[in-house]
Amino acid sequence: MFKKILIANRGEIAVRILRACRELGIRSVAVFSDVDRKSLHVRLADEAYPIGPAPSRESYLSIDKLMDVARRAGCDALHPGYGFLAENAALPRACTDTGLTFIGPPAEAMESLGSKTAGRQLAHRADVPVVPGTNDPIENPREAQTLAHRMGYPVLLKAVAGGGGKGMRLVSNDAEFESGFRDASSEALNAFGDDRLYLEKYLYRPHHIEIQILADAHGRVVSLGERECSVQRRHQKVIEEAPSSVITPDLRKKMGDAAVRLARAGGYVNAGTVEFLVDANLNFYFLEVNTRLQVEHPVTEQVTGLDLVKLQIAIAAGHRLPFAWESITPRGHAMEVRLYAEDPDNNFFPSPGTIISRQVPGGPGIRLDDGVYEGWTVPNDYDPLLSKLIAWGNSREETIARLRRALEEYTVVGIKTNAGLFRRILDEPDFLRGEIHTKWLDELLCRPRTSVSADGDQSGSSAADAAAIAAAMWQANQWDRHSCLSASSTDQPSRWKQEGRRAQLDRLP
Ligand code: ADP
Repeated sequence: MFKKILIANRGEIAVRILRACRELGIRSVAVFSDVDRKSLHVRLADEAYPIGPAPSRESYLSIDKLMDVARRAGCDALHPGYGFLAENAALPRACTDTGLTFIGPPAEAMESLGSKTAGRQLAHRADVPVVPGTNDPIENPREAQTLAHRMGYPVLLKAVAGGGGKGMRLVSNDAEFESGFRDASSEALNAFGDDRLYLEKYLYRPHHIEIQILADAHGRVVSLGERECSVQRRHQKVIEEAPSSVITPDLRKKMGDAAVRLARAGGYVNAGTVEFLVDANLNFYFLEVNTRLQVEHPVTEQVTGLDLVKLQIAIAAGHRLPFAWESITPRGHAMEVRLYAEDPDNNFFPSPGTIISRQVPGGPGIRLDDGVYEGWTVPNDYDPLLSKLIAWGNSREETIARLRRALEEYTVVGIKTNAGLFRRILDEPDFLRGEIHTKWLDELLCRPRTSVSADGDQSGSSAADAAAIAAAMWQANQWDRHSCLSASSTDQPSRWKQEGRRAQLDRLP
């Protein structure tokens, strides 16, 4: 087993990894930028080293600096977490050159599965259904338009290097194609330094379902079941849960087998996630592979009882997976909400600042994967994820009740958070019935909130209600056509994800 692991990340995920190290008796080495000097991961790690100024290109994205720390600290392995360099094949290669074990997939598997079009090609070969569309980047927009016409609108133009919903455009007819192409490619160029696009059929209100897989270096690949990630705001996951209300045991087995086939075809080792869209008829279509640990991995941990980070470390150390798929029986229900420092009243803009005080939830079935503490200042330089609140219960109803109770206990003074959004979602009848899809939350947020007076009477005449509903429907339609499939220019989705992908393209040393 390893003696010392370098954690090439920050925030809650760095804390999560160092906790696993401590339980395994492995020393943890943190890195920090100038603004992270007082961060929780720095406080909790066994050792911590500065790696430069706040901009991640000069700190967390600098492979040279990370390798230098690894050498100086005498580390024998590196965990990349998620975001930043986690999906950059240059990192495992640099680790090999430095004599470090990379806790993640081999560089070749990252390349063959990590790129969206390469992943689609591999899925074809592995007999895994993909969303209809092109498997190569579009070279000739005119030909792509002809194909779109033949496939039938609406279609999605998507960035080959995509992430965080950037570089995506919904095109509803021939007339919109040219401008959609122009907009999507310039947004992709801005976000990722790569303007290549490909085409997908736009599925109507699908579920986003992903399969967690684990693969060891001895040929065993297992599926740990699904996570339901359909509650999204502009293509960013907001709530994740397991199991999904729509997945039958038969479908779970089929999707698990498809994910395992794909992982095998790509020579995958370690933890990974195969993302699918599932339509109303329960047909599933491959979307992409995330060649790393996911933000939402605790959901799977809660229903399987497994510690995915410890398993990642064991796999990287050459251990065999100690079980077969048949022996894993998911238990109960788990749900995760991502608590962000952002202002729901100001289009969810980041809301950095000092946490003056806070009260954190606890009690039965509650897990808080935290990256902050009272008195700490949330910097403006990174993704503003504060903590992940995860509830577990015997049933979906009990899980929701626990999560609701935990959100009532949770208070933060000094910064704004999105906690109120979850309180609202958890009271929505559609959500309670499990009737969600990837557009559900965007549509909910387009809808005006019904005000209820103190005595419980709903305010407003029926004519006013009808007008409000008509306005909301118009707005939802406009949203769907113009903005829902591309984050607006004021939006700041997953900054680390964008920067990480850009770094990949720049081939940082
Ligand atoms: P990114 O990598 O930019 O996050 P993904 O391909 O993972 O993009 O898709 C993110 C989300 O966008 C999906 O979960 C879904 O909500 C929506 N989406 C992507 N492709 C399609 C499609 N073909 N039809 C309908 N919705 C889609």
